[in-house]
Amino acid sequence: MNSKDLLQLTEQFGAPLYVYDADKITSQYKKLTNAFKGVPNLKLNYAAKALSNVSILRLLNSLGSGLDTVSIQEVKLGLLAGFKPESIIFTPNGVSLEEIEEAAALGVQVNIDNLSILEQFGSKHPDIPVCIRINPHVMAGGNSNISVGHIDSKFGISVHQIPHLLRIVDLTNMNINGIHMHTGSDILDIDVFLYASEILFETAKNFKDLEFIDFGSGFKVPYKEGDIQTNVDELGKKLTKRFNEFCKEYGRELTLAFEPGKFLVSEAGYFLAKVNVVKQTTSTVFASIDSGFNHLIRPMLYGSNHQIINISNPKGRERYYSVVGYICETDTFGSNRRINEISEGDILCFKNAGAYCFTMASNYNSRYRPAEVLWYQGKAHLIRKRETFDDILNNQVDVKELFEPSKKQTVK
Ligand SMILES: *Cc1c(COP(=O)(O)O)cnc(C)c1O
Repeated sequence: MNSKDLLQLTEQFGAPLYVYDADKITSQYKKLTNAFKGVPNLKLNYAAKALSNVSILRLLNSLGSGLDTVSIQEVKLGLLAGFKPESIIFTPNGVSLEEIEEAAALGVQVNIDNLSILEQFGSKHPDIPVCIRINPHVMAGGNSNISVGHIDSKFGISVHQIPHLLRIVDLTNMNINGIHMHTGSDILDIDVFLYASEILFETAKNFKDLEFIDFGSGFKVPYKEGDIQTNVDELGKKLTKRFNEFCKEYGRELTLAFEPGKFLVSEAGYFLAKVNVVKQTTSTVFASIDSGFNHLIRPMLYGSNHQIINISNPKGRERYYSVVGYICETDTFGSNRRINEISEGDILCFKNAGAYCFTMASNYNSRYRPAEVLWYQGKAHLIRKRETFDDILNNQVDVKELFEPSKKQTVK
């Protein structure tokens, strides 16, 4: 989709607005599937937390994707969107036994990431097969911060705890049908990932009834020009070869699973917001938009660099701007950005707004969360309405009978 389409959508649906391009989600899904076409059984489980609108889940379901979930609510959204329970994997961290039991009762594959819950679950439900999340403790050196579950991480069962894990499995007579790891960070160095995979293969040999090995996610996508991205084709080639070799050694054709979030939806998303004020100060020119980190928190929370373009004036002279939001504290989307000359009323477009953007939006400053639109086969479909004042008050309980307005409030 192009800038003209996006600009037209802000006229039709207003701004701020999230727009998702279904074609891009589809092509990313195909790109990843294609990279692993040499694996007889491949399963991509879309990580719902990246973008959990039911219509997006339906699109991914129609492509043949499974679903990776981290809360019972995401499980329920997935079921509502038409995923079969067996196509959903529940990979929470630090949740209660009850929540895991609830997911299992819905028929969802559960993935357990600590020995305490594993022992409790196995004792109560030895017949329900369970996947275990392993922390391979692989540290990447030097150039990047890819740490495949570092030693201080709260995620997963440490590879060093395998003897204890095996004892629990043995004593409870439970069945481990999958093993899993998730790096949690952007994979830049494929070799580090492959090294962690070897640890997973080694671990897998301890379990005789495996059906799948889940390599998690962490695929890095480009945010700005010159950004490194995970070379999925190279990873596909190398891991396919190793995986197929391992299956031979193991004596059974296992399923290779991934749980991509960002890779599938990041680049498909656009966030559109109107410029309220262009403000010259002694140090910079601010472009203040009709939005803030309540709508897109990634720059403030993670220092993410979302490309910002002025779709109202694409041919304008380029100037330097600091693009800021209206939240009453530091609220910067980008500093010193070269953007085509901005006038008040222009629409700015933030790229890579598909993953972890709307799902992290809040009502902070009592603002409405934006509408969401799905662009599918050249047509726009509203998939979430803009909030209204009722949404702000929804669930608030007004105990007005407790308080009298102060008599001192005099109006001059
Ligand atoms: C968040 C998460 C993912 C998705 O990670 P991306 O970097 O968005 O691909 C996958 N698996 C688990 C368990 C997660 O928590």
